[in-house]
Amino acid sequence: GALRNQEYQILEEIGRGSFGCVRKVIHTPSSRTMVRKEIKFGHMNSKERQQLIAECAILGQLKHENIVEFYNWDYDKDVLYLYMEYCSNGDLSQMINHYKKERKYIPEKLVWDIMTQILTALYRCHYGSDPQPLETIYDKMKLPVKGANLVIHRDLKPGNIFLSGENLTSSADKNSKLDYSKALVKLGDFGLAKSLESSIEFATTYVGTPYYMSPEVLMDQPYSPLSDIWSLGCVVYEMCSLHPPFQAKTYSELQRRIKAANFERIPQYYSDELQNILTSCIESDIQRRSSTFELLQNFQLRVARKSLQ
Ligand code: ADP
Ligand code: MG
Repeated sequence: GALRNQEYQILEEIGRGSFGCVRKVIHTPSSRTMVRKEIKFGHMNSKERQQLIAECAILGQLKHENIVEFYNWDYDKDVLYLYMEYCSNGDLSQMINHYKKERKYIPEKLVWDIMTQILTALYRCHYGSDPQPLETIYDKMKLPVKGANLVIHRDLKPGNIFLSGENLTSSADKNSKLDYSKALVKLGDFGLAKSLESSIEFATTYVGTPYYMSPEVLMDQPYSPLSDIWSLGCVVYEMCSLHPPFQAKTYSELQRRIKAANFERIPQYYSDELQNILTSCIESDIQRRSSTFELLQNFQLRVARKSLQ
C-alpha cells in the first residue's frame, strides 16, 4: 500500500460512512470505476493501526463472486483509503424500501435466491473455501479449519448487502425500473469493525440501531460465525415482512426483545419451509442455531443454487 493517489481520478461523493466519506473513483491504469472509502485513523494507537492493516490484507484475499471485491489500500497522513468494487444498483435496504412503497411482497423465489447468494459468500468467510458442488453428497459435517483465516462479517444488515450486475436495468435509460429478479448480491462492509470497534471514535459515531445483532453479542460474548447467521435470519425476515423481526422504541426494550427471541411469523404469502429456516437462524441457543454449512443442505436452497449456477 504505497501512496498511489495519483493513479485515481476522484469523482463525486456517493455516501457517508461512519468513518469518513465514500467516493466514486476511476482507477486510471485500468479505467475501472471503483469506490474509495475513507477511514480516519489519526486517533488510533499503533496497535489498532496494525490490526486495521492486517484486516485489509485478509479482505484483499477474500475473492468471491458474492463479496464486494477489495482492490487496494493506501494512506495519506491520517486517512486510510480502501479501494473497492463499485456496486451500481444500491443495496438491500433500498430494495426493501422499494417493495414497501409499492405495497408488494418480494417474490419468494427472489428471497431464496438472495439468501443463497449471501450464504455462499458467508460460507467462503466462515470456512475459507467454497461450498462443494451440488452433485457432491454431504456425508460428513464440515468444520472450520483451525487457524484458517476465518472471517466473521460482524455487521450483516440490509445496508451492507449491495446489488450489482449490469443486467439489472433493462435499458440505458437511467429512469427505467430495476429488475431485481436479476440481482447479483455482493456482501460488503466487512470485518474492519473488529479493529474499529475498539477505537474511541466508534463508540461516539456508531449510532445505528442494533436490529440485527445476536443476543450473545448483545451480552458481550465474542462474535462467532453463528452471530452472522442470526443477522442473516433477521435480514431475510425483513425481506419477507418488510420490517425487522425485533423492533422497539428504546434500546433497552429492543435488547429485551432480541434476548427473548419471540417474533411473528412472516406473512402467510410465504411457505412454512422459509419460515422454518428463519426459525433455525433466529435461534437464541447457539448450539441449536444452524451453521452456514447446514443451511446450504436445505432442499430449497439447493434448488436456488442450481438455478443460479
Ligand atoms: P458505513 O457502513 O460505515 O455507514 P458504508 O460502507 O455502508 O459505510 O458506505 C456508506 C454509503 O456508501 C452506502 O450507503 C452506499 O450508498 C455507499 N457505498 C459503500 N460501498 C459501496 C460500494 N462498494 N458500491 C457502491 N456504493 C457503496
Ligand atoms: Mg455500511
